[in-house]
Amino acid sequence: MSLAATLKTAETASKKPSLAGLGRVALAEALAAIGVPADQLRMRVSQLWHWIYFRGTHDFSEMTSVSKTLRAMLAEHYTLTRPEVVVEQVSSDGTRKWLLRVAAETPGEKPYEIETVYIPEADRGTLCVSSQIGCTLTCTFCHTGTQPLVRNLSAAEIVGQVMVARDRLGEWPGAARPEEAILPTEGARMISNIVFMGMGEPLYNFDNVKTAIETIADGDGLSIGKRRITVSTSGVVPMIEPLGREVGTMLAVSLHAARDELREELVPLNKKYPIAELLEACRNYPGVSNAKRITFEYVMLKGVNDTPADAKALVKLLKGIPAKINLIPFNPWPGTKYECSDWETIERFSEIVFNAGYASPVRTPRGRDILAACGQLKSETQKLSARERMALRAMAMTD
Ligand code: SAH
Ligand code: SF4
Repeated sequence: MSLAATLKTAETASKKPSLAGLGRVALAEALAAIGVPADQLRMRVSQLWHWIYFRGTHDFSEMTSVSKTLRAMLAEHYTLTRPEVVVEQVSSDGTRKWLLRVAAETPGEKPYEIETVYIPEADRGTLCVSSQIGCTLTCTFCHTGTQPLVRNLSAAEIVGQVMVARDRLGEWPGAARPEEAILPTEGARMISNIVFMGMGEPLYNFDNVKTAIETIADGDGLSIGKRRITVSTSGVVPMIEPLGREVGTMLAVSLHAARDELREELVPLNKKYPIAELLEACRNYPGVSNAKRITFEYVMLKGVNDTPADAKALVKLLKGIPAKINLIPFNPWPGTKYECSDWETIERFSEIVFNAGYASPVRTPRGRDILAACGQLKSETQKLSARERMALRAMAMTD
């Protein structure tokens, strides 16, 4: 074995697992594994929970309510490392995009990069998280859809995205906000809402998404309530009911067309779960009500799905479902065959939807200059050479 390979093996062998991002069950297992007695586990997990998820601690030595012996044991076996920030980009409108490196899951696997986007508004801050590396689905207008699925993200990697965002935005007790940035007004929470609208199909990674949401919503830690968490699906019908019953978040459905023929072209999953079945699942979504409406996302594609007749078909289709309609101007990406509808066309469409009684906010594209807008996410670096990747890393370190 070459020296480099030997060093690499040694480095991998000495890599300690991180506790940051683990749920209560996994945390208890990690403590049991280093000899914490069973009758102390619950209490120890509560202590650690506070330090990890309420305070955002990076170092076991700061955990003053934990005995010194246990702190030393924890430091010997574990870390509190988050996914590594490879690049941070800040758009002129305040949107931030982080390219994060997630550690290899199995020895020999190369590390991958995922993207997380933060969208500040005056009264709120929304974090858009990824649930998979790539996507198995191939929606024709989506950039992520051109990247084959590499793997599901673990629950810890999903929670890790929230923790990194809090680190970078200084949203832990006593931490400082970044300077010269467009952020929510003082007093408003920096990350008040979470949307699963980054890379991947969350309902194809149900268990990990569920565990991650339990951690994110836990009132003793990150405390972002389930009413402020939205899971967006392209229409994985069999998992919609379990999402409502077992997880209880808000639901968003990527509809994009009111006819099966067109929807099949845009969202090929429609061949498996056609519109009627999808809407039936929405009608029966546990907890759905006028106060807890389902968001239907509709991407505006020029000359494809944007006529007044399409708008009328859409409102007819959604009749009787407590719904919000979110019109998303198409965000172009290199190589796409689609264009975004003209502004007048979007306004006309929106008016028809509005007159039918739906609030129809047109989602202003955010962070377009840094390719952070919906559907533009794709690990850019996967196409870069080793030298270019080094340059990116250096940039990230000097920022
Ligand atoms: N896989 C899930 C969640 C991630 S996509 C889903 O499809 O719902 C998040 C949202 O962005 C979806 O509504 C998706 O249809 C939309 N989207 C994808 N590509 C887009 C693009 N290029 N422009 C605008 N919206 C896009
Ligand atoms: Fe996957 Fe959603 Fe993109 Fe479709 S729109 S390819 S489901 S990430």
